[in-house]
Amino acid sequence: MKYAIYCPSCAKAGISRKLMEVDSEARGVIFPYCKGCHQNVKICLEGSDRPDRKAGIY
Ligand SMILES: [Zn+2]
Repeated sequence: MKYAIYCPSCAKAGISRKLMEVDSEARGVIFPYCKGCHQNVKICLEGSDRPDRKAGIY
């Protein structure tokens, strides 16, 4: 199963900007590039910082 990763910075501004999809078994930290922020954003896939998988946003 895959779930969508949305930019947390854009989410704070009320914009749902999908960055990529990751497998639900994926672990670690990823740095997808956000076209809205014009930079790579840090996404933790595990631990307390992991994204809310139902919402796709953390
Ligand atoms: Zn962004």
